[in-house]
Amino acid sequence: MSKFEINQAVSGVDLGVFNGKTKDQALDAMAQDQGYADYDELLSVTGETRESDTLEIREVRKPLTFSVVVRDCNSWDAKTGIHCLLRDCGHAHRSLATASHCHAKLTKVTGQWGNGGTTSAAWFNAVVESSTGEQFSNCELFEALNQ
Ligand SMILES: [Zn+2]
Repeated sequence: MSKFEINQAVSGVDLGVFNGKTKDQALDAMAQDQGYADYDELLSVTGETRESDTLEIREVRKPLTFSVVVRDCNSWDAKTGIHCLLRDCGHAHRSLATASHCHAKLTKVTGQWGNGGTTSAAWFNAVVESSTGEQFSNCELFEALNQ
């Protein structure tokens, strides 16, 4: 579901933000908000057509953000199809670079075990994910850190 901002272009009146998968669905939602069955009924009352109306419709996009997350690799969510979220850093980082810094801090080697270092168990296998669900490899994070 997307959100669309609808304005009256001539008068500049802000009609509001409406949900819909398409612009047409958002127009129907706006018309229903005003008591009509759909946008076609509203047009039949105002005498306008979809071609002559002066509405400006713009999709409202959320800014892309990045978070450090840990997912349970043994779980599968039937709805989303992704591994269940166990933990996230709670930040909405504005860039991959700042999320990479957070990732580096959270997964920093804190002790020595055998021949290698150990990281905190809470952030074991933490990855950076964007708000659109894209995951980034450690190589991409390293590159972002060093830009
Ligand atoms: Zn963070």
